Amino acid sequence: MFVVFLMIAVLWGIGAAMKAPRKQRWIMTGILLGGVLIVQLILPDGHPLREATGSSPMLWALILAFGAIVYAYRLGLGKLRAAAGPSMAPEPVDPSKLTEAELDRYARHIVLREIGGAGQRALKQAKVLIIGAGGLGSPVGLYLAASGVGTIGIIDDDTVDASNLQRQIIHTDDAIGVPKVESAADRIAALNPYVSVRTYNRKLTAVNSADLFADFDIIVDGSDSYDTRSIANAAAVAARKPLVSGALGSWDGQVTVFDPAQGTGCYACLFPTAPDPAVNTSCAATGVAAPVPGIVGSLMTAEVVKLITGAGTPLRGQMLIYDGLHADTRKIALRPNPQCPVCGPNRKES
Ligand SMILES: [Zn+2]
Repeated sequence: MFVVFLMIAVLWGIGAAMKAPRKQRWIMTGILLGGVLIVQLILPDGHPLREATGSSPMLWALILAFGAIVYAYRLGLGKLRAAAGPSMAPEPVDPSKLTEAELDRYARHIVLREIGGAGQRALKQAKVLIIGAGGLGSPVGLYLAASGVGTIGIIDDDTVDASNLQRQIIHTDDAIGVPKVESAADRIAALNPYVSVRTYNRKLTAVNSADLFADFDIIVDGSDSYDTRSIANAAAVAARKPLVSGALGSWDGQVTVFDPAQGTGCYACLFPTAPDPAVNTSCAATGVAAPVPGIVGSLMTAEVVKLITGAGTPLRGQMLIYDGLHADTRKIALRPNPQCPVCGPNRKES
C-alpha cells in the first residue's frame, strides 16, 4: 500500500518538475489507481503484487469513487459558470477605476491632454439624461455611449416609425413598432456594454421631471415641442443642473448650454412665450435633411463631454448656429433676462 502512495508522490514530483498541468497529474493518478484496483480484482489472494498494493480492492475503489464525485461536481460547477456568462465575473471594487478593457477601449480619449485618465474616469461616473430618442437624441445617445458616459438615461414615450429612420440613426429597421427607449437602449448596449442605460418610456411632465432630474448630473434636451422644452428648462433651473439644448430646422440647427447656476440665462429668457402654432411647425410638416440632426446632436454631445471633463470652453451664454445649406456657423451671445419668470430674481418657487 505504501508503494502506491510512493508512486503517486513520485508522479506528482515528476509532474511538478515538468510543469505538467494539474489536470494531467490528476488523470495520471486516476490511471494509476485504476491499475491498482484491477490488480486487486484479478490477481489471486496472496499474490506478491496484491500484497504490495494493500491486499484489499475496497479501499482503492472508495478512493476512485470519491475522486470521480469531486471531478463531476467541478465539471458541473464549470458548466454553470459558463452558462451564466461573463456577468458573473467579479467587477472591480472601486467603480471610479477603469478596467483593463476600458483603458483599451478609451485609449484615444486617454491620450488627449484635455481628457486623460482623470477625464475618462469622470465620464464613467457621469450620469446624463437625454430627453427624446429622436433625431437629436440618436447621435447624442450613441456618442455618449461611445465616449464612455457611465450612466445614460433616456426618456421618450414614442415608438419607432419607418419615417423616423431617415435621420434617427440609433433605431434600425427591425425596431419599427418598438418603444424608442428600448430600441435606443439595445443599440447602446451593442455599442458599449460598459455603460448602463436607464429607460423611461413616458412623457416628461412637470410632475415627474423633478425626481428624474435629481438622478442625473447633466440634462440634454433633444425634444421637439415647446411644452417639453419648457418643462425641461424649469426642472433643470430648479435642480441647478446644466441643460444642453439643441434645436433643428430643415437645414439648420442651434446649440447652447443653459446653466443659470453659473450665470447664464435659460430657455425661458430666450422664448418667454410659446411660438405661434402657425410658425411652430414640426419636422413632420417641414422636413429635415438627414445629416443635420447628426451634426447638431454631435455638437451637443461635444458640449456634454466638455462639461464633464472640464475641456475647453462650453457654450454657456452663447448659441452656436449651424447653417447646413451654406455650410456656415456663427455664435451669438445670449443675455439672461432679469425679468425671467423661471430663472430671474422674481421667479416663482415651485
Ligand atoms: Zn430665464
